[in-house]
Amino acid sequence: MRTDAPIGRDPAPDCSLCPRLVGFRDRNRQLFPSYFNGAVAGFGDEAPWLLIVGLAPGLHGANRTGRPFTGDYAGDLLYETLNMFGLSRGTYAKEADDGLSLVGCRISNAVHCVPPENKPTPAEANTCRIYLDHEIRSNPNLKAMIALGTIAHNAVLSILGIRKASHPFGHGRVHPLPGLPTLSLLPLQHQHPPSHAGDVPRRVPYGGDVQAGKVRQGLCPWTPPEGSIPPGLP
Ligand code: SF4
Repeated sequence: MRTDAPIGRDPAPDCSLCPRLVGFRDRNRQLFPSYFNGAVAGFGDEAPWLLIVGLAPGLHGANRTGRPFTGDYAGDLLYETLNMFGLSRGTYAKEADDGLSLVGCRISNAVHCVPPENKPTPAEANTCRIYLDHEIRSNPNLKAMIALGTIAHNAVLSILGIRKASHPFGHGRVHPLPGLPTLSLLPLQHQHPPSHAGDVPRRVPYGGDVQAGKVRQGLCPWTPPEGSIPPGLP
């Protein structure tokens, strides 16, 4: 393994530890020269109580804007939910310079470079874990993590030295850890299919909202305004 990347919480934009992803980055620089096209650093509070771990930058989302979950549909859902729970300030406008800030919360990824077809190899996930490891271990205030998907979930377990068999991934599943509850889920909201022809699909609260509600109940100091939480949430 090459060791020309600094080992810290975030990789340098030109981190070259994963040859396949560097090749994909070079190809994207040709195809999308206006995009960020680099390793995407974490975003949010410098010492958060809540860390959200995604899979990897989206090709036309974070890989374009340079900020996690920013610029694609996944970000629309995530930032809407964070706003709902008082974990952000400002208005999310799909660009890294929209002035949005996170409060008590930080977002990072298990893999910091966009992979082809959104699928990092196990070796790439292992290599990039050094940054998430630093993110977790260097934060004295961390109280909870939300892992968005199996790869993120397993990366967190590996960093904490916890057997995957005893803490399997599951949508909405909560895994209390000694001194640190970690939450595992995939979707934050989903499109509710129209039940009748002509109905408009509506977004309904799903696992992420419910879990965020649990986090809020136990850990978040913020109290939502009356009526700001959709029906059905704890
Ligand atoms: S995925 Fe992570 S380790 Fe691999 S090149 Fe990108 S930043 Fe470096």
